[in-house]
Amino acid sequence: EADRLLAQETGPGATADGHAVALLANIGTAADAERVGAGPVEGVGLFRTEVIFLERTTAPTQDEQAEAYAQALRAMGDRKVVVRTLDAGADKPLAFATQPDEENPALGVRGYRLVRSNPALVETQLAALGAAQAATGSTPWVMAPMIATPAEARDFAARARAAGVATVGVMVEIPAAALRAREILAEVDFVSLGTNDLAQYTMATDRLRGELADLLDVWQPAVLDLVAATARAGQELGKPVGVCGESAGDALMALVLTGLGVTSLSMSPGALPAVRFALRHHTREQCEQMARAALAASSAPQARADALALAEPQV
Ligand code: PEP
Ligand code: MG
Repeated sequence: EADRLLAQETGPGATADGHAVALLANIGTAADAERVGAGPVEGVGLFRTEVIFLERTTAPTQDEQAEAYAQALRAMGDRKVVVRTLDAGADKPLAFATQPDEENPALGVRGYRLVRSNPALVETQLAALGAAQAATGSTPWVMAPMIATPAEARDFAARARAAGVATVGVMVEIPAAALRAREILAEVDFVSLGTNDLAQYTMATDRLRGELADLLDVWQPAVLDLVAATARAGQELGKPVGVCGESAGDALMALVLTGLGVTSLSMSPGALPAVRFALRHHTREQCEQMARAALAASSAPQARADALALAEPQV
């Protein structure tokens, strides 16, 4: 019965009172885009392009990349596609792009920081995306991972715009970026919160260490504070603030994120129906009440319990 109800969940994401929150998919390959593109998803909120680079000894050529990006863009038609540039390092090691001798790879040369030693990697990727855009007539959005400062955001935006990509953003997944979200948003068109890494860096807790799961929790009020600050900056500047970490696929958290002012939620495709259902059964005001309750809590379990107490029983 629950499966049957969820299978009917196909419309665009919106609260019970019609406040739109785009529901997007996280993908890793062009084949994923073809699979999810066949369904009712509103677009792709995170294309993790490093998957194209995995299990290779050299980087894919510009033409190889352009073909993969064009395939993904074609699969999504006129729906939104947010392509993330290479996020190599730490939990995503790549033979040709990561330094093997780092003692603290999560704090090292990962994500956009690779541009310091290897600008050709991101330049080739942006050129490939520009070519895919020209070949398909689509208008992809592009964003860089692991941005810490407004200067990095400005540097990335200049490179992306030079490659002909019009809509440029960065991920907010380092606390410094969340605390300075207004200054970062002044440099770009949108941001997307990576709550997996934001929780890791806020709580100083390795995302790969299962025994620290109680700390590595997006319900930690400190993490929610940073999400709230970022969403507020987006509202002030009138620019989109999405979430593309795993937390977006938790139906209760999706309501809280909506209440905090996030404008889109990107998740594993399997989580979409339950999140769509939950949104449709709560008003924006209810989501805001849940967000206030979670922010006022003194612990992660309490934040979750207090939000849940305000949710409709079917969530
Ligand atoms: C995140 O950090 O939340 C995120 C979406 O990026 P990834 O999981 O690929 O690091
Ligand atoms: Mg991340």
